[in-house]
Amino acid sequence: MNRVRPDWIGTADRFSPWPQARVVVAGLGTSGFAAADALLEFGARVIVLDESDHQQIAERAQILEVLGAEVRLGPGATATLPEDVDLVVTSPGWKPSTPLLARAALRGVPIYGEVELAWRLQDPEHAPAWLAVTGTNGKTTTTQMLESMLQAAGLRAVACGNIGKPVMETVLDPEPYDALAVELSSFQLHWSNSLAMHSAAVLNVEQDHLEWYPSMAEYAADKARIYARVTHSCVYNVADPETERMVEEAEVTEGARAIGFTLGIPGPSMLGVVDDLLVDRAFVEQRRTSALELASLSDVQPYAPHNVANALAAAALARSYGVPAPAVRDGLRRLHLGGHRIQTVAEVGGVRYVDDSKATNPHAAHASLMAFDPVVWIAGGQAKGTEFDDLVTGVAGRLRGVVLLGVDREVIAGALRRHAPDVPVEVFDSTDTGVMAQVVAAAARMARPGDTVLLAPGCASRDMWPDYAARGDDFAREARGLGRA
Ligand code: ADP
Repeated sequence: MNRVRPDWIGTADRFSPWPQARVVVAGLGTSGFAAADALLEFGARVIVLDESDHQQIAERAQILEVLGAEVRLGPGATATLPEDVDLVVTSPGWKPSTPLLARAALRGVPIYGEVELAWRLQDPEHAPAWLAVTGTNGKTTTTQMLESMLQAAGLRAVACGNIGKPVMETVLDPEPYDALAVELSSFQLHWSNSLAMHSAAVLNVEQDHLEWYPSMAEYAADKARIYARVTHSCVYNVADPETERMVEEAEVTEGARAIGFTLGIPGPSMLGVVDDLLVDRAFVEQRRTSALELASLSDVQPYAPHNVANALAAAALARSYGVPAPAVRDGLRRLHLGGHRIQTVAEVGGVRYVDDSKATNPHAAHASLMAFDPVVWIAGGQAKGTEFDDLVTGVAGRLRGVVLLGVDREVIAGALRRHAPDVPVEVFDSTDTGVMAQVVAAAARMARPGDTVLLAPGCASRDMWPDYAARGDDFAREARGLGRA
């Protein structure tokens, strides 16, 4: 006989009688592990499912089993939804159409992501301020900048979420945080329904992940969820009207403000750029008539227009929480961004080699290309259903040449034929990672002294490499090798 689902499950929090609940954790990635671990700590009965039984997954499963979870791993493990399940906590990457999740929805079983569960399980007496960032591009950079600014202000703060550290770990840390810099993907937002951020930013909305979403509208709608119930500031990108429209339509907590960021001169309630300074006209008393200096453009490293935009968005969130201006500047100065984001990896024969392997969609590649002129562009990989026509039209004038590789090389080649027919293009058909040596050599032949060779693939890497970092490492190694040849 079926059990009756506990009536509190839809409004569950840390005070709920978790031992009554039977919870399925779908997917044993870092966030699934953190969710399962927390649920076990709260006494819930937990079943963990994953189609993979590879070493890392198996190791995590073993730990959870010792803690009392029931574990099902391997092909077919997620084919059926166990009976009498009260709640499903899903890995963010799972599509709603996945049979297990579709069945849960059909049965009316609530589905949370790990971020939603963390929100509910945090201790309201010691809850940190959640300062959240989403967008198609720049999330990680902005989140790191924000973390650095908060720490420079002497706060106990940490970056978490999509950046790699589960939010659950931070909210259950025995020593409470003052503030969290939370990076959220559209998937994590999709599986959240009660988050109420202190302040939140949508950096931009461009084509990406169309393999997951039925349409751009649904992708954008998930990003817009970050503004729901915001209590202080909704930060939007003045150059991207879609983000401002999202703020206008959001159901925020009364009193929350809309704050813009712009690479131009800021109006009232905006942060922006005046001469070579980042300035604040939002969180100052006299914002009608004056602006407060936050930092210099040279404090933003590596310098590129899109990183200035990221710095302004991070500053808006930090200032919304009360971070003083000098801490914004110190945070930027102290920060060393991770590799593979417009990182200069070699200079050979007067040509600079730049690794932006993290540019995994056309919008990111576009931002990256706009920072260099003339440029030899290395692109290709998995296009994820996106198009390159606008990108090529926008950058044609600065392209010295293009070298293409990867499974969707023809998508980009077609756009080049249509919009930049005079630009020399070389295409490599091999899907062996060793082809990077030929790709770099071809780019080096095209480049002239003073040019930049830029790896900004505009595509994901997994057709050939384990991840974007491995792709970038191979590029860097080959570029450095040119000098020794
Ligand atoms: P995400 O976490 O959203 O993937 P990252 O901060 O890791 O973003 O940056 C990924 C890539 O996106 C960078 O390497 C750069 O090419 C590009 N990028 C970064 N910030 C922006 C921005 N604000 N607008 C457009 N492209 C950007």
